[in-house]
Amino acid sequence: MHLNETHDQLLTSWVQSANKQGAEFPIQNLPFAVFKEKNSNNAFRGGVAIGDQVIDLKALAAKNLFHADVQQALDACALPTLNEFMAMGTEYWSALRLALSRALREGSDRQSEIESCLISQTNVEYDLPCVIGDYTDFYTSIYHATSVGKLFRPDNPLLPNYKWIPIGYHGRSSSIEVSGQTFHRPVGQTKAPDAIEPSLGPCKRLDYELELGIYIGKGNDLGDAIAINEADNHVFGYCLFNDWSARDLQAWEYQPLGPFLAKNFASTVSPWIVTNEALEPYRVAWSRDENDPQPMPYLESDKNRAFGAIDIKLEVLIESEQMRADNLPPYSLSKSSFKHSYWTVAQMVAHHTVNGCNLKAGDFFGSGTQSGPKPEEAGSLLELSNGGKQQIQLPNGEQRTFLQDGDNVIMRGFCQKEGGVRIGFGEVSSLILPAKVQP
Ligand code: CA
Repeated sequence: MHLNETHDQLLTSWVQSANKQGAEFPIQNLPFAVFKEKNSNNAFRGGVAIGDQVIDLKALAAKNLFHADVQQALDACALPTLNEFMAMGTEYWSALRLALSRALREGSDRQSEIESCLISQTNVEYDLPCVIGDYTDFYTSIYHATSVGKLFRPDNPLLPNYKWIPIGYHGRSSSIEVSGQTFHRPVGQTKAPDAIEPSLGPCKRLDYELELGIYIGKGNDLGDAIAINEADNHVFGYCLFNDWSARDLQAWEYQPLGPFLAKNFASTVSPWIVTNEALEPYRVAWSRDENDPQPMPYLESDKNRAFGAIDIKLEVLIESEQMRADNLPPYSLSKSSFKHSYWTVAQMVAHHTVNGCNLKAGDFFGSGTQSGPKPEEAGSLLELSNGGKQQIQLPNGEQRTFLQDGDNVIMRGFCQKEGGVRIGFGEVSSLILPAKVQP
């Protein structure tokens, strides 16, 4: 673990909203997004959250307040995507974080200069923080893999490669959008087990997947693997990720080559990227059950054992059309933590590149659905409804097995140690529209 002065739990900011108990964005967090003023023709540019404000990094760059490394980082953050900044590497990310932390602290002599770069979060809208080149979706919760495996293959739930390989597939980045995304219920081929032939129609088993998104920063050259102990230098940060899934399409199409149209109609990210550096204090030990195969050497290290996992608490909530009409609050469906992941992000990076595959700044990993060990910690409706066999009761009397049109799904996440500061992820929310009538 690399802790420095920016992680000091006692730091407070002259931005008073950052010091409130339970604030999402205290001075220890400093996450990045791309934003502009709501309904304006202004260009999108990089911003950092502090309390209920955004620091406009383009405006800050124009002030030329900082030394060369920080200024170079700020100039990259002034662009409409953060790819260039993400490609610069840990030295520049850390230099900017340190400069912002010092400038935002109570008593800083930079206060008046920074104040003029603040915009209220209520007045901004967000875009994807970077151009996402390639998107890889992993499958790192053994609890999710086992319970989904049971539904699809009762006799053979967990395939033998699961405990050796961080399993993943190459997804599609074109349909990834930022929180607030709305999308039409997908149409596709499905085949009921007792039907003779498949039929085409709107998906009947629409589901969410509670995942973390991982943004790659500095990439690697084609042919060069990233060693497990180097992996974290290539990870820029994390967001919340809803990997929408059409379970009935998936069941019919997924063999032999894996998910296809069941997964590429929409995926939604939260606007803020919480940096890898901000998450350092929440790293925890990673272990592998002694009865399971131990990782091969390229997936094994003391550092990964000591600090490879991160305790990011996750929650998924539903808000139906009826609940919105009646002004009822969203209902919490489940809670989990990323610390339960069978594989760490360092292992995902090491495995993804062991064959020489090149990652690039802005590439994106989904962690896979983060279901915890208890059934009520499941990260999808497929699991919570036991494959659609059990109704989930909502407090207003509605029931769900899978999602209905008008449902809004909200995901939240945070890190917090006993008595310590809370580092929030904000939220990702998106809404299902009825299927489009196909010509
Ligand atoms: Ca997924």
